Formats: sequence, structure tokens, C-alpha cells
Amino acid sequence: MAADAPDPPAWTQPIAPFHLVGPVDYVGSAGIAAYLIRTRAGAILIDGTPEANAAMIRRNIEARGVAIRSVKWILVSHAHADHVGAVAALARASGARVAAGAGDVAALEQGRAPGEVLYKPGPYPPVHVDRPILDRDRVTLGGVTLTARATPGHTPGCTSWTMRVKGQGRPLAIVFPCSITVAGNRLVGNMAYPGIVADFRKSFDTLGAMRADVVLPAHPEGADVIGRAHRGALVYPTLLGQIVAKSRADFEIELQKQQQANHG
Ligand code: ZN
Repeated sequence: MAADAPDPPAWTQPIAPFHLVGPVDYVGSAGIAAYLIRTRAGAILIDGTPEANAAMIRRNIEARGVAIRSVKWILVSHAHADHVGAVAALARASGARVAAGAGDVAALEQGRAPGEVLYKPGPYPPVHVDRPILDRDRVTLGGVTLTARATPGHTPGCTSWTMRVKGQGRPLAIVFPCSITVAGNRLVGNMAYPGIVADFRKSFDTLGAMRADVVLPAHPEGADVIGRAHRGALVYPTLLGQIVAKSRADFEIELQKQQQANHG
């Protein structure tokens, strides 16, 4: 994200943490996701939410019966303040190692948004990355494996994480897609990220081809994660395809707009 407008209040609004599917719990705020995955050797956290939420996310993790020191890995979706603001504090409190897309590591370690954007991005506490991640790298803990898919565009290191869990009768593919909105990125003449347009298009293809029985995005409203969980309707195998189609169309419209503005 996003524009010069103040951050949406939902980003820092607490909600009670709850179970999603298999070993996965929701421990984020009302408007920004953090996902907790239990294993027999500790837990994995995906994303941290904004800096102001660090104590809230820690309480949510502990409310689910997981001691903060049991969190062994924090996986980052992408280097924007709304998702990684609290990661440095949570990594300190837990002692967890941090894994993030290699293309976002420099920005994370400086506490800034990568690339060139058309808004004023907020800084965040720098995140030390223990493990830079490339496409199809795996993070394994206590018998649970998360596989990374590089889905750059929104940021150069934007990483979608995937896992399989036991469902009723058959395994379920869970996808934690990285953001695929343009969200104020400069698409034309982005000197800091010249491949941005090709990356976005390739990531739409990558995500569009993935099997996803359950979609758990960084912005939960993008898949109505909270409503769907409470209705017992998380399994929705065509949802990721719908999200990708919509984002792809929005992207091409925004690209045209920026091209026209450039040729004024
Ligand atoms: Zn973002």
C-alpha cells in the first residue's frame, strides 16, 4: 500500500485471534493479516502487520496458546510498512529467524519501501533478514514445509508462500499470496525497478496457475478471510483465479493511465 491518505483504522484495530484451517491461526489485526502456523517444533509466523501492532500480535499469538519464544521463523510477504512494521520487534521478542524475498532484503534492512512509488511511503524499523528467499525455496519446521513462490511486481521481492494441510479426505493447498495490486507503484520509468511491468504480468501468470483451495492474503478483505472463516467457507478453489483476473485487469488500466500521463 498505498496513498498519502492516513492508514485505514482497521489496520490497527484489534480482533480476537481465531483458528483458520489445519495448523493455521489468524493472529493479525482487523485489517492486516498475520498468520500463525503451529508445528511440533514451534511455530511459524507470516507477516507482522504495522509497527504499532507489535504488542497486539504478540498477545494474539499467546492467546492461541503459543509462547512467543516458540515462534522460530517469521516469513515476510513483502517490504511494506503495513506488513513488516512489527516484524523487528516480534523477531526480537521471539528470537525467530526472518526469511524474506531476496529482492526485498535491502529495503527491509533499511526500513523503507523498495522501488519508486507515487506516494510518500512510511519508514519502519529495519528488519534483519536471516534467510533471503528465492523462487521455490522451502522453510521447514517440525514436519511442516512452506514453499516460496516469487511473485514480484508489488515489490521486487514479493513472495507468496504455499503449504499443504490435511483436509477432510484430501490434502488442501493453502496459498498466502503476496499483494498484487499496483498500490502507487511507478509503472512507467521506474529507474529503481525497470522490470516492474514484466514482473507483475509474470506474477499474475504464476499465481493464476497455482492450485489454491484456501487463499490467505496479506490484506484479509481481499479474500474475505475473516467472514469466510466464521462462515466455515474458507475452502474456495476458484477464488485465487478470480482475485488474479481482477488484479490483472486493474493493473492494465492503471498502466494505461500512467502511460498516458507520461505522454501528457
Ligand atoms: Zn504492499
